[in-house]
Amino acid sequence: MEKPSRKRLFIGLIGATCAVVCTVLVLLWVIPYVGLRNIHPWAPWALGLVLGALLLLVCWAGLALVLSLVSSRPLPLARRVRGVTIKLLLPLMSLLGRALGFTKEDIHTSFIKVNNELVLRELGRFPPGKILLLMPHCLQNSRCDMRLTYDIDNCKRCGLCPLTGLLGLRDTHGVHLAIATGGTIARRIVVEKRPRLIIAVACYRDLSSGIQDTYPLPVYGVLNERPHGPCLDTTVPIEALEAALARFLEAPGK
Ligand code: SF4
Repeated sequence: MEKPSRKRLFIGLIGATCAVVCTVLVLLWVIPYVGLRNIHPWAPWALGLVLGALLLLVCWAGLALVLSLVSSRPLPLARRVRGVTIKLLLPLMSLLGRALGFTKEDIHTSFIKVNNELVLRELGRFPPGKILLLMPHCLQNSRCDMRLTYDIDNCKRCGLCPLTGLLGLRDTHGVHLAIATGGTIARRIVVEKRPRLIIAVACYRDLSSGIQDTYPLPVYGVLNERPHGPCLDTTVPIEALEAALARFLEAPGK
């Protein structure tokens, strides 16, 4: 049976949300009807200030994002631009994109591309021990019963799935490699390995939610390939991973 405290929390949150929405709706009617000046002589200015600040924030976020994408050099506040893009612009962009008829895949894929550009501009290079290659479970051959989530070295490197090549990549460069079956395991791996950069492979949906969940930790996303449809015997473009490693890895001996 569900814990009563959880139920109370849920009912409390629903009640609070309804109260906020009702207050906003009432204010939307009362303010134009009564007139701001009749509420307080300074009320028009106060509202103007709040709306002006919001307007500046939105314009700054949009302009900073565009400048970050067109400039070849890292801009000051680059990390903040990535944060605003992930936390504020993605949800707004998703709503607008859906209303304009774009598919979720189009919107998420473009977000991943923009995120990668920002990560490329913001970050320098890292020692191998600070980079984590995070893979989805569906890369493992569906007929293989090796348990890899807790120890990826249980893989026998038989060559039937991309794990053989990925383990080779890990051994060559000395980076961390892990498989996650979901957000909880991914978070546990991140806490354990303490990377400064994650290079993640997944579908557009999991990549965009992973990028949002792990912010401010930067994630460079690589889309998986799905020759058998979603979530079954997927593959990974190893060249894209190698190119990302070449970009982010510190030169040996540094
Ligand atoms: S390479 Fe072979 S042993 Fe390793 S996970 Fe894939 S199928 Fe299993």
